[in-house]
Amino acid sequence: MATCDLSGRKVLITGGARGLGLKMAETVAAQGAAVVVADIDAEAGQASADALAEQGHQASFVHLDVTDDASWAAAVPDAVAALGGLDVLVNNAGIEITDLFVDLDPANARKTFDVNVVGTMLGIKHAFLTMRPEGAAGAGGAVINIASVAATIAFPGIAAYSASKSAIDRLTRVAAAESGRLGYGVRVNAVCPGLVPNAMGAQLANDTAERGLFGSPDEAVGAVVSLTPSGRLATEQDIANGVAFLASEDSAFVNGVALSVDGGMGM
Ligand code: NAD
Repeated sequence: MATCDLSGRKVLITGGARGLGLKMAETVAAQGAAVVVADIDAEAGQASADALAEQGHQASFVHLDVTDDASWAAAVPDAVAALGGLDVLVNNAGIEITDLFVDLDPANARKTFDVNVVGTMLGIKHAFLTMRPEGAAGAGGAVINIASVAATIAFPGIAAYSASKSAIDRLTRVAAAESGRLGYGVRVNAVCPGLVPNAMGAQLANDTAERGLFGSPDEAVGAVVSLTPSGRLATEQDIANGVAFLASEDSAFVNGVALSVDGGMGM
């Protein structure tokens, strides 16, 4: 568990209903932050926020489709009202659809870019509008974009996903530059997680094996581990700890970077 002090921080996490986003919510809440979980899955998102509140944390849910500008325009003021401000946005919502190039479905590629790239950009837009000095929260803060080790290595079968995560890496730096230039007081960083054996990670191992890239899902996982100096897969807690660091004052002078939390796989 992270030990960064996040007392009083007001944090909005997209894709917080399950998986990595939920672990991030649990982690920052345990360090003293108030959290709003935002997700397209209202039932799971509400249940996750309720579970956090039952554990004694300040937590609530807002419905959000990250691909929809109007959805952001409605959700962010609700989050600001629930939190009493906004210090941190974690753009975590993302999807992965495995496709070999020879089978490429343009609809899958477009959907991947829409959620992962456009969704992240819209999050930055609404965070800047809200957190810059003239915004409804107005106190600056931090945006943390969840990219992937796939932005830094070439793994077969995930071209659209890898390209979308590489885009997040680059747009993170543009956003940091723009925020600095225009005096928004918002740091913008990314986290590049290694493969986590949760639902998304397991699906990727299954899908790449099914498409003949590896003999089995275990072989796909073995290939990842063998490329990782630390010799294991990532845990959800590993990734959440990186997010907590970038959300805290411990990273006050860290801006425009992509923090690899991947055991060295992407170095
Ligand atoms: P997940 O599929 O378990 O969770 C993703 C969450 O995002 C879900 O709650 C889903 O409902 C939500 N979501 C999807 N589309 C949305 C939309 N349009 N609007 C709002 N919410 C939406 O995945 P995860 O493993 O928790 O991954 C979280 C992030 O971490 C993703 O960006 C993913 O690409 C990245 N990542 C995951 C891994 C891994 O191994 N799991 C590795 C590297 C990076």
